Amino acid sequence: MTMFKRLETLHRICNEINNNASSIAKCIHNASNVSYREMHKAAFFSLVDENIKLSRQEKKYCKNLYVYEFELNNVAYKWGTPKRCLNCKLTRYSEKYCENCISLHLQKIFDAWTSGNEIIDNFIQECQKLSPLPNYIMEWIPFHQFENVRYLTKGGFGSIYIATWKRGYITDYDENEKAFTYFGPQYVALKVLKGSNNPGKFFFDEVSIRVKMVLDAFPHTYLLTWLK
Ligand SMILES: [Zn+2]
Repeated sequence: MTMFKRLETLHRICNEINNNASSIAKCIHNASNVSYREMHKAAFFSLVDENIKLSRQEKKYCKNLYVYEFELNNVAYKWGTPKRCLNCKLTRYSEKYCENCISLHLQKIFDAWTSGNEIIDNFIQECQKLSPLPNYIMEWIPFHQFENVRYLTKGGFGSIYIATWKRGYITDYDENEKAFTYFGPQYVALKVLKGSNNPGKFFFDEVSIRVKMVLDAFPHTYLLTWLK
């Protein structure tokens, strides 16, 4: 089995375990003081440990994947236990991620990138201040990060291209290293919007619609670039 096929199977097994954990947690959490989420997490971990189809490494992978989503949700929905962050001194809701610390890190590197257009830069900076979690960060992507750019079709408001994004989206943030990690090469669709060199209300309306559509399908992918 190829590595890609095995990864696909692994995600399918993880999903099955996740569904089984939901059934178990639903049955027993009403009779307990432990929250549904904690119950679900314990059931998931226990089912992963018992699963004979998974190797030791794969069990670790499934658990890491679970914790990653769990901690992101703790911050995004404030589901985690609130506590004071030792770094920024504000309230954080996750052991793994402090929204404010990541936001401060993003603000520190505002000077490291520019689209060449002040309005676009301000727009992305405001988005990053509002949404600094890995998977949900709006970014300016310099065009040299794309390769194999090919024309696909014409859409309602502009042309659509496909390309390989060499770096890939931000998958994680290491609090100790103060550094992001990236997905690596991935296929992306690029859209040329009319009037994007002189952005006005139409441009931002169109970007907002696209961002919403893409977020519904792929929560981690939204980016802006100039097609040259
Ligand atoms: Zn913090």
